[in-house]
Amino acid sequence: MTRIHNFSAGPATLPLEVLETAAQELVDYQGNGLSVMEMSHRSSAYEAIIKQTERDIRTLANIPEDYAVLFLQGGATLQFSMVPMNLSVKGKADFLITGHWAQKAAQEAQKYTDARVIASSEDLQFTAIPTFSAQDFRNDADYVHICENNTIYGTQFHALPDTGKVPLVADQSSCIFSKPLDIARYGLIYTGAQKNIGPAGLTLVIIRKDLIRKDLPEATPLLLRYDTHLGSDSMYNTPPTYAIYITGLVVRWLLDNGGLEAARARNEKKAALLYKTLDESRLFRGTADRGSRSLMNVTFLTGDEQKDADFIKMAAKRGIQGIKGYRTVGGMRASLYNALPYEAVEALCEAMKDFEREQPC
Ligand SMILES: *Cc1c(COP(=O)(O)O)cnc(C)c1O
Repeated sequence: MTRIHNFSAGPATLPLEVLETAAQELVDYQGNGLSVMEMSHRSSAYEAIIKQTERDIRTLANIPEDYAVLFLQGGATLQFSMVPMNLSVKGKADFLITGHWAQKAAQEAQKYTDARVIASSEDLQFTAIPTFSAQDFRNDADYVHICENNTIYGTQFHALPDTGKVPLVADQSSCIFSKPLDIARYGLIYTGAQKNIGPAGLTLVIIRKDLIRKDLPEATPLLLRYDTHLGSDSMYNTPPTYAIYITGLVVRWLLDNGGLEAARARNEKKAALLYKTLDESRLFRGTADRGSRSLMNVTFLTGDEQKDADFIKMAAKRGIQGIKGYRTVGGMRASLYNALPYEAVEALCEAMKDFEREQPC
């Protein structure tokens, strides 16, 4: 068996131990005589899986009882719609625009609410988190929305905006559980599982319970209401059972490996090595502003599209895959998610140095 060094932005690498456990349990889950995939979601065996997964998530991220943990579908993209549908009371929401996904979220929200752009770094081609101050937010807004880590542009909020009493909503699709988080700072966190915590198909929403309203417009589809999912323990209809099971294994793996403090240490070590290699290179350069650099997605280029393509080809020969930049941005992007081993980053940095050495002066 040879596994590649998988730098894919998502769906992305999973811990080998998790895949091995899943393989072992694939045909006969813990003596039940069937696969988790084949189980009724109402069976006691499955109920134990989803309940344990929720408990483990609460333990891992220190989530108190006044927050709900919901297992949904539709990806982060459906949350671009669900958040404004469920959270709009006064009909105002403020957005910080840090890239493609934040833009998409604001555009979709505009259908349901007065979505105002408070600050944007579009004029900087999204190479940095824009500057803003607490006074810029409307104090009568329903929420402030951020995309906490910008998967495509390789930037990240290193301090959360001070939104006062206005709930902060964060798209954490590419940074969830990469480091400790202070849940109390957020009203709502959403993420697709497929980048940092599991396979595609599961969308995790962590929401302060008092934000879950019952008095939504009559025409709101049942499945797009948080109160539907809260009231049925994420089992109003069939949940993505297998994706929840695998995510549960990943969360357990994080707990067994020292929790989020240890995850942060591992992730910082990986990012430090790659950024150092970039900073010392004469050929490659990081595209994100130093102060805004992401811990999870590192974007870089040579400035010459042919050389970028040659490097991607050379790296692929060494088993380094998934480093092609987002289709509209180009260059390279290395995603250093929780499950990516340090050795993969070492292999990438070696390849970069060797490639640079082979260039004519
Ligand atoms: C990938 C990504 C999305 C889109 O996620 P889907 O689960 O495919 O809908 C949204 N936001 C961010 C930050 C992402 O990285």
